[in-house]
Amino acid sequence: MTTDSSTYNFRPFHASVNVATLLKEPVGATRDYDIRELAEEGDASPVTGRVGLTHSARGVLVRTDLVHRIDTVCSRCVKPIDCDVTVKIDEEFLPSIDINSGLPVKAPRDGSSFLIDANHILDLGEAVRQYTMLALPMKPLCRPDCAGYCPNCGADLNQGKCECSEKTIDPRWAKLMALKRKPSLAAPRKRSTTTGGRKKTNGTATKA
Ligand SMILES: [Zn+2]
Ligand SMILES: [Zn+2]
Repeated sequence: MTTDSSTYNFRPFHASVNVATLLKEPVGATRDYDIRELAEEGDASPVTGRVGLTHSARGVLVRTDLVHRIDTVCSRCVKPIDCDVTVKIDEEFLPSIDINSGLPVKAPRDGSSFLIDANHILDLGEAVRQYTMLALPMKPLCRPDCAGYCPNCGADLNQGKCECSEKTIDPRWAKLMALKRKPSLAAPRKRSTTTGGRKKTNGTATKA
């Protein structure tokens, strides 16, 4: 993944839920939330959508259908824009304390899993951040046909053509232009050779 996240402005996002009751229910029990109910920012949350929790054999399975609104700039014209990133989390969060015995649960050795803390709080912030990073568009645009700036004079091409687009000849066309000029210079000579040849033929024809 080579997404350049430096152009993105991440505001820290915190959303958490106490899953103690869910963990005491049978495996397969579910909860469904609007993320704004769980987000610190409430209704002002930059993340919107639904969160589904399921009591799994090992912990809590988290599935989300979220949209994360992020501040960024258009990759062509550098205008500030909002970028909506779809965040579909599918992760099993593991408990760090057993809900029934109160004893610590051994965390997996690779440390790759998301953990529910000792107070049975499941924090979604880090998972949202990681999934958002993976889903960021490589080149966000203010609109699909944004023309950006002229690399030559810096004019905003969304406001119309700049003067360079008419004056400057693309170097790739320069050779073609030169070729176009050559035949017109060579033409008189060519024509004279052809005339000479024809004369010869005529001469031979007359002789025969
Ligand atoms: Zn743009
Ligand atoms: Zn220009």
